[in-house]
Amino acid sequence: MNDRLLITDLDNTLYDWVTFFALAFDAMVEALVPLLDIDRYQILAEFKTVHQTLGSSEHPYAVFELPSVKTQFPDASPKELADYLDEPLHRFNSVRKAELRLYPGVAETLAELARRGVVLVGHTEAAAVNAYYRIHKLGISQHFRHLYVLEGPPVRHPEPERQRELEPPDNVLRVVPPAERKPNPRLLADICTTEGVALSDAVYVGDSLGRDVYMAKLAGVTAVWARYGTAYEPERWRTLVQVTHWTQEDVAREARIRESTRGVTPDYTIDAFSELTAILGAGSVALR
Ligand SMILES: [Mg+2]
Repeated sequence: MNDRLLITDLDNTLYDWVTFFALAFDAMVEALVPLLDIDRYQILAEFKTVHQTLGSSEHPYAVFELPSVKTQFPDASPKELADYLDEPLHRFNSVRKAELRLYPGVAETLAELARRGVVLVGHTEAAAVNAYYRIHKLGISQHFRHLYVLEGPPVRHPEPERQRELEPPDNVLRVVPPAERKPNPRLLADICTTEGVALSDAVYVGDSLGRDVYMAKLAGVTAVWARYGTAYEPERWRTLVQVTHWTQEDVAREARIRESTRGVTPDYTIDAFSELTAILGAGSVALR
């Protein structure tokens, strides 16, 4: 029997990124309001500008770059700034710790699929350091042969020692060129070539119809929609939109993707990650 391959999206497929990140971010902002003595909306607007400069919304140390922080602590060393901002940073970390958890059945399903010899790889457009931190922290990194990440500006921790701890092992990461952003099907063809598995023996699972499912369909890979990944509170999404690094051009691109993916139909829709065990079950996944 041929090798089978599961390519899994990470955010909102393995864990609820939208919810934990929005809650952690909100907690940090709440602690910044009295410290900086400005309102929440100005803080969010400043974050948005800094995120756009950094090309990433997921950079909690963006707080060091906020104009209001620079005005308030103009001559502070990085160490002093970290002390001033200890409470907001602490709030972010503690809420993340409490809220970042796997969806039910993810760990067990990955272990079972690995036991059955399914090749498992992760794919994400989040920064490599953040993505690896999450799967490592969640205790599932050992199941993945590779983690495919989009080439992008490095996200670095201000403390070199901490940076070294966060650095993923070299043999795990595979960097994808920027042109292979979702929903470019070339990405999946390249992943299948790297893993030595035929497209017809591969399954892609993700929470986005317009990006994940559409891409898998274009590539000729079995497309699984993780519908449960879209079931977060709309309020959380609104928080993220207020601080997104997306530019006008990104927003326009998103609208084009949505337009061209109207009516995209997944091969399977799942309401729990564990349903993948049956989809990747006996026989070729192409026989469905
Ligand atoms: Mg996702």
